[in-house]
Amino acid sequence: MNRINDLGRKYNLFPLVSQGDYYPPAVINAEGVFLFDDKGKEYIDLSSQFVNVNLGHGNKRIVSAAEKQLETLPYIGSKFASAPVSELASVISCEAAPEMKGKVFFTLGGADANENALKIAKSYTGRYKIFSSYSSYHGSTYGAGNLTGESRRFSTEPGIPGFIKFFYPEYFREKEYFPDERIYSQYCIKKLEEQIINENPGTIAALFIETVIGSNGVIVPPEGYLKGVRALCTKYGIVMVCDEVMTGFFRTGSWFAYQNAGVNPDIVTFSKGVTCSYLPLGGVLVSGKIAEHFNSNPFPCTLTNGAHPVSCAAGLAAVKEYKRLEIENKVKKTAPLMADKLKKLKEKYISAGPVRSMGLLGVLELVKDRNNTPINSGADVPSKIMTDIMNMFYKYGLSTYHTRNMISVSPPLIITEEELDEAFVRIEKVLQEADSKYCV
Ligand code: PLP
Repeated sequence: MNRINDLGRKYNLFPLVSQGDYYPPAVINAEGVFLFDDKGKEYIDLSSQFVNVNLGHGNKRIVSAAEKQLETLPYIGSKFASAPVSELASVISCEAAPEMKGKVFFTLGGADANENALKIAKSYTGRYKIFSSYSSYHGSTYGAGNLTGESRRFSTEPGIPGFIKFFYPEYFREKEYFPDERIYSQYCIKKLEEQIINENPGTIAALFIETVIGSNGVIVPPEGYLKGVRALCTKYGIVMVCDEVMTGFFRTGSWFAYQNAGVNPDIVTFSKGVTCSYLPLGGVLVSGKIAEHFNSNPFPCTLTNGAHPVSCAAGLAAVKEYKRLEIENKVKKTAPLMADKLKKLKEKYISAGPVRSMGLLGVLELVKDRNNTPINSGADVPSKIMTDIMNMFYKYGLSTYHTRNMISVSPPLIITEEELDEAFVRIEKVLQEADSKYCV
């Protein structure tokens, strides 16, 4: 064990794991899609860390933009106008999401973007109830934790009164009951409307939705569903909030995933890809109509480090890089290659279960038999099997994360075809070992 690991294990708390058995590699540098540890071992970053480093590691233009800003104006409070903040807000409003005709409030990350979206929606509507789905993750602070539907919510319970959960449509699990996707969407919208009516629509401020469910398994809503949600929100005066923290900035092929579905939300929250996390930044983009409301009503949000000029300078450089590198076209080319490679895994390996992807947001479910029983089913909680499998990923030179039995396959958007080929050679090595150890 070296000094970095020693100190890390003694004094640092790592996220979401039992600390006792946790021995991560010590990463000392990173370039493009590769990470390098202190022993010189190379790892392909299969998940872009937390699906945030969209432009890959070591991008010099983002680094030098941040450096320049540090030299000229390292900090100014967000009540003043400053060049990087104004410029970035204008690119997001006018180029990334022109249909919103809106304004941006910058935060430090994704969870606090959702926290502030909650306050904005409550303040705008004068209502207090909030809808969100059981399959969603919206962050780990208290309000965002209450918005979250899956088990990461439990540490924030008992929950905040008025936070209501609905079922997100998971068509791939329910196809056998609904052979027609559009009818399935209509059915889910009908059930959602019943729930809204039962909760007294006049009390509901907002409905939060991950436009594509990210960390809980890349679930793309069925055709027509988001349009149905939009129609319900309009009918009952509910603010529709699309959480695009993971899906924004070309991860699914467009600036934002709601654009793929042809709907306009009232609020969009974002983070991750806006700076690729070279520096922390998030934001709440509100529609023109909501922005106008705050022309004559006090805006209820403030953060000491919000709209940080150095983060915004990094963000401005990143959005320029998305354009210079033609990332939108690149994702359109690479996405079908990745989808095809994911599908083919199942032909060769029992442990390769269902796969799903949109753009370069992908997931591979690990299973133990041909009936797709999750590889860690039964009494394996917390999962020793998944810990072992994550170590196999490291062993074969891959870095990724998992949620239950689901492995993120969401590499940086700059990945080349050769690098993608190599990543799948390494994935196959993991699956081969998983087959021999855990499959029947
Ligand atoms: N919303 C979504 C959809 C996310 O995927 C995440 C993080 O993974 C968050 C919100 C929280 O963002 P942060 O970790 O920056 O607080």
